[in-house]
Amino acid sequence: MQLNILGCSGGIAPGKGTTAFLVNDDTLIDAGTGVERLSFETMQKIRRIFLTHSHLDHISHLPFLLNNLIGLKLPAIDVYGLEHTINALQNHIFNNIIWPDFTELPSKETPCVRLHTIEIGELKTFENLCIQALPANHSVPTVGYWIGSSQKTGCFAFSGDCHHTQGFWKALNHLPPVKHLIVDNQYMQKESAISELAKHYYAAALDEDLEQLNYHPELLITHLPPHNEAEVFAECQTVLKDWQPIQLTPGSIFSYTNEQ
Ligand SMILES: [Zn+2]
Ligand SMILES: [Zn+2]
Repeated sequence: MQLNILGCSGGIAPGKGTTAFLVNDDTLIDAGTGVERLSFETMQKIRRIFLTHSHLDHISHLPFLLNNLIGLKLPAIDVYGLEHTINALQNHIFNNIIWPDFTELPSKETPCVRLHTIEIGELKTFENLCIQALPANHSVPTVGYWIGSSQKTGCFAFSGDCHHTQGFWKALNHLPPVKHLIVDNQYMQKESAISELAKHYYAAALDEDLEQLNYHPELLITHLPPHNEAEVFAECQTVLKDWQPIQLTPGSIFSYTNEQ
């Protein structure tokens, strides 16, 4: 299995993009501005998209992606998310005001996108890909994901946008271990008040929560704010020194064998 980081920033800046991860060549986790890194050829291979939540930095480029593909008579792209996320897309994006209702275009019978709800804990299996929705704690209903090349072989897990929680860590402990753990860290300790409101981790809160995990994957930090990412990541390196965190960067590619 391969993971290609298209976007992993908490905001926009030249050379950076918001959350979008490409798994193999046909599956996206979130569809933020990082989708712009996809070539037109690769866009045509996308078969499914798993969304963590409804926030714009995670869905912004789904409408543009569909707009690029609509004339090509490709099979519909399957989009998965919590009921809250799917309803938000239908009511606030594909509402024929902000964007055309692509769930009925080019025709009701052969739309270019199909929206599907998933439940927390639900497992979806495809060829060489298993993906399970995990509980997360954010300002809107959100899931994280466990991704494996089979049900028994974990590759990576992603917290989505998240703040203090037990559910995510408990769920991970009950699944096959992953090599990489991708967790968001938008704020610094001095911003803990806004961090509580926005429900994103800062390093000390993440450090506390990581104690719940009963193994030690490589920790990749995502969702750093582009305007002061060096300062925020420096705090991660200090506070999370036992975890030796790595800053996730766009364009990074991780390969997983079948024996992690
Ligand atoms: Zn969010
Ligand atoms: Zn976000």
